[in-house]
Amino acid sequence: MDRTNSRDRELRERAAAVIPGGMYGHQSVGLLPDDYPQFFEKGEGAHLWDADGNRYLDFMCAYGPNLFGYAHPEIDAAFVRQLGLGDTLTGPTGLMVELAEALTGMVAHADWAIFCKNGSDATTMALTTARAHTRRRVVVRAKGAYHGALPWCTPRPAGVLDSDRSHQIFCDYNDVASLEAAVAEAGDDLAAIFAAPFKHDTFVDQAEPDVAYARKARELCDRTGALLVVDEVRAGFRLSRDCSWSRIGVQPDLSSWGKCLANGHPLSVMLGNDKARKAAASIFVTGSFWYQAATMAAALETLRLVRDTDYLERITALGEALRAGLAERAAAAGFGFRQTGPSTMPLFLFDEDPDLRKGYCFSSEMLNRGVYVHPWHNMFLCAAMTEADIAHTLDAAEASFAALKRQVRDLAPVEKLAFLSAGAR
Ligand code: PMP
Repeated sequence: MDRTNSRDRELRERAAAVIPGGMYGHQSVGLLPDDYPQFFEKGEGAHLWDADGNRYLDFMCAYGPNLFGYAHPEIDAAFVRQLGLGDTLTGPTGLMVELAEALTGMVAHADWAIFCKNGSDATTMALTTARAHTRRRVVVRAKGAYHGALPWCTPRPAGVLDSDRSHQIFCDYNDVASLEAAVAEAGDDLAAIFAAPFKHDTFVDQAEPDVAYARKARELCDRTGALLVVDEVRAGFRLSRDCSWSRIGVQPDLSSWGKCLANGHPLSVMLGNDKARKAAASIFVTGSFWYQAATMAAALETLRLVRDTDYLERITALGEALRAGLAERAAAAGFGFRQTGPSTMPLFLFDEDPDLRKGYCFSSEMLNRGVYVHPWHNMFLCAAMTEADIAHTLDAAEASFAALKRQVRDLAPVEKLAFLSAGAR
């Protein structure tokens, strides 16, 4: 594929003048290989077009929000219909109640819902609720786990005070002894234990939740009166139609959701059980756009598809076919290629690739063949993907492994890695 990038380069230059650092957040300049586009034009189904019109099969799915396909006709029609009636009004529409009823009907631990806009709103609100409920301060959470970009949890320390970060104790995910030690250290000040549905940290192999760890977290919360919070923002509805930890028989008190809840329209939610209801009603949380009705209409349609279609079984099967096909092709090319995480949210890392030079080269080769993958962040499958898309990805991978093999001895180190791993974790 002959990719042009002149429009992207021009936009980058202009952005450098009017956007600090040229870009912020998860698409910051330098976080991805240099040939990755920074700007996009449109998305449709499982595909994404960059600002120069190059088309990619998109395994990032907007970092999660795209579950049923970009520009999904029914979801977007529900959004547009409500937009015509009224969107951000003085108060919510009845859709909010319907949506809370739909979610509490689907998520076993949930008796109530509070809607917000970003995942960070939902995780922070869970922390505040737990502190209000317990009248204690400390949260125990896993090292390297991402829970958002507000001062208490942002991965970068710039501008953050020690006091913003106080009352947090870190443990190792899936390590029962370290969880117990952290809880012991919190003493009688433990408000909450936070958990990711599985270990989905950047730069490292992903890991399923250990059942003993999840049960221990539940037991420690029950024993101390603290609240157990599962952060479903990234994984929600890609592993289960319920809270992910229901698969291992552990129910949290609170869960935070976002990203794909309205298939890309901005909506997140904190769900909770009756134990936490009074505390949730006592905190003051709001935002100018939190009652936005059109996103709630889109979310109702998204949840209908979650409930009534076999999307989860389909993306799981596609993910498994992708995994098996990639393993075969990597082995045939002689590469140790680790695919970890659930098949619907895979992460790829090469053996003997401490500075990711192989990963970067492979990703760029895939991009050149019209497949957008990520060298160090988990990816996402969406229900708009087809078997033909997986076949195309496997063809692209075969050629990309071959291209990597030709270049592997001469690859330059990825110099940005120190910045990457310090900054993006
Ligand atoms: N928690 C997790 C697990 C996430 O992956 C994210 C976003 N990547 C967040 C919280 C924060 O969500 P948002 O970016 O919507 O604030």
